[in-house]
Amino acid sequence: MGGSARDLTPHGEVQFYYDGIQRLHGVLPRTCRLGGHDLTVVGYTHEFIDRPGAHSLIVVCCPCCTPPDDAWVLILVKSQRPYHVELDDSRYEKLRTRVSEPFVE
Ligand SMILES: [Zn+2]
Repeated sequence: MGGSARDLTPHGEVQFYYDGIQRLHGVLPRTCRLGGHDLTVVGYTHEFIDRPGAHSLIVVCCPCCTPPDDAWVLILVKSQRPYHVELDDSRYEKLRTRVSEPFVE
């Protein structure tokens, strides 16, 4: 938790899917929010933020870009812990094209 005020306006929801044997998989963006870095190469940090009365958030930060602009702020709609988490941009293409618009929850 940083001391300074951080914009936690969500950009969208964390994407999930079930595989053929009904295991829950979570998907996070593969490219940093500023578009310059492949997080499977440079790494990333993530933080869970609990919000009383609302869905929790997950904040994914790129280690190479300048906070807070690098951070994906995503709503965690599932309370289950996923079996596996992967990084894949294809499920986030819609969010990236409207990255400057606030997400309406
Ligand atoms: Zn970056």
